[in-house]
Amino acid sequence: MSDFTFTLLARDGAARRGRIETAHGMVETPAFMPVGTAATVKAMRPEDVGGTGAQIILANTYHLMLRPSAERIAELGGLHTFMNWPGPILTDSGGFQVMSLAKLRKLSEKGVTFRSHLDGAKFELTPERAIEIQHLLGSDIAMAFDECTPFPAEEAAAQSSMELSMRWAERSKRAYRARPGHALFGIVQGGVYPELRRRSAAALRDIGFDGYAVGGLAVGEGQSTMFGVLDETMPALPEDRPRYLMGVGKPDDLIGAVTRGIDMFDCVLPTRSGRTAQAFTRRGTVNLRNARHAADPRPLDAACGCAACTGYSRAYLHHVVRAGEILAAMLLTTHNLRYYQDLMAALRGATEAGTLGAFAARFAEEQDAGDIPAL
Ligand SMILES: [Zn+2]
Repeated sequence: MSDFTFTLLARDGAARRGRIETAHGMVETPAFMPVGTAATVKAMRPEDVGGTGAQIILANTYHLMLRPSAERIAELGGLHTFMNWPGPILTDSGGFQVMSLAKLRKLSEKGVTFRSHLDGAKFELTPERAIEIQHLLGSDIAMAFDECTPFPAEEAAAQSSMELSMRWAERSKRAYRARPGHALFGIVQGGVYPELRRRSAAALRDIGFDGYAVGGLAVGEGQSTMFGVLDETMPALPEDRPRYLMGVGKPDDLIGAVTRGIDMFDCVLPTRSGRTAQAFTRRGTVNLRNARHAADPRPLDAACGCAACTGYSRAYLHHVVRAGEILAAMLLTTHNLRYYQDLMAALRGATEAGTLGAFAARFAEEQDAGDIPAL
């Protein structure tokens, strides 16, 4: 089994084209990770997720510890076997979901106690337990346990939250049991305050991680503020380790973040949108529920090679959406994930060719032009 490695293959300005090697295979970067919250990418069989071009998926410590439990998954051979996904898996540490989903949370230096949003059962999540759960799941890339700083937060609150996350990061590192081909990433916090972000990055570098994530963004601060935080944070992170922007985002967020030096992303947007009739295309977002598609024989996106675009008309997709058929979610999720993977492949190609700026300009032009109306 090889070591976990990150190789930088090319650069275009601050953008990076790289390759990650894990115990379960390679990941070409910049990479987008479909979200498989409860050990399933919703509406998709794992082989179809792979068919969209995805090489790595994300799963969720919080959801899996509640149901069916990390111990159960470990008994059944680990998460890769359990969910039939043979490729790399990144697990988040549960910090974000505890804050957004759990009930009766109590935060202390030790960790968080809370009640499950499913049945009210009491749980405790600490840095040590979050790392143990991710070990039991067998995730290729585990995340340090952190507190996702609420937004908006005053600077003093953002600072004490960040400092707590840095103490938890140190405990996460100490609890982590290294295995070949596996990695532990730290998470930069600090809200929208550049100095806090730089201090957080420096603290994580001192502890030493296999990769570095930027957390606490895309929580309502807006794209220009997010890009500003990235501009301040990226130079504080080591060049030779992957950088992961958590929970982002829309296609133009990905392009802006890749331009600033981010290597990895995850977001529920393509999968969630696929279940609400929203499709991402080269000419902007299309709502298949809209009556204008009812008699349209064209594919959703003529430039897309996915199963939805090669096999079905807009009229059919509109029909299954309106009829509430499960196939609507399956086809539109397939398309959206393929769209995101094609976008990442184009960003990798443009970074290699040194044409990222021109690619970003053309992308914005095509999005602004909007959907081509039916004849
Ligand atoms: Zn498609």
